[in-house]
Amino acid sequence: MALRTIITYPDPRLRDRSQPVTDFGPSLQSLAQDLTETLAEHSAFGLSAPQLADHRAIFVIAPPGTDQPQLFINPEVTSKAAWGFVEESCLSVPGLVGSVIRATQITVRAQDAEGAPFERALDGMAAVCVQHELDHLEGRLFFDRFSALGRLRAKRRLRHLTSDNPQN
Ligand code: ZN
Repeated sequence: MALRTIITYPDPRLRDRSQPVTDFGPSLQSLAQDLTETLAEHSAFGLSAPQLADHRAIFVIAPPGTDQPQLFINPEVTSKAAWGFVEESCLSVPGLVGSVIRATQITVRAQDAEGAPFERALDGMAAVCVQHELDHLEGRLFFDRFSALGRLRAKRRLRHLTSDNPQN
């Protein structure tokens, strides 16, 4: 168990696709713990393994109003409804906020830490968090989903942000 470093844009590893989890042994258990602890430390709503530079298909969400972080392994969204604009930010893209179209009612199928499959209906921020984290597993970042104008603004903002942090 440990707090882990979150990699940030433009680290190219954020663009790699994650691989399905097949081994639910100790290495996965410690990754799950690290994700949960690191998320809690940053009091954010979600964190995915690729943000820790680990490309296994796993993420954890803790949307406002939930008492327990929820773990999703090998997740797949099986239904989406009630689309709307949602304001998002990302621990891997510090300083950027923007509107994204997301479904606010979804059904997601995944496995828990022991590998047991489950299906869950989620709405509101929980549904939004799952879609944001699922994007990470596919190498996608939230600003990829901005409108054309939003992407233009984001590009300018990101150039500014990354020039403030030459080590990135
Ligand atoms: Zn993110």
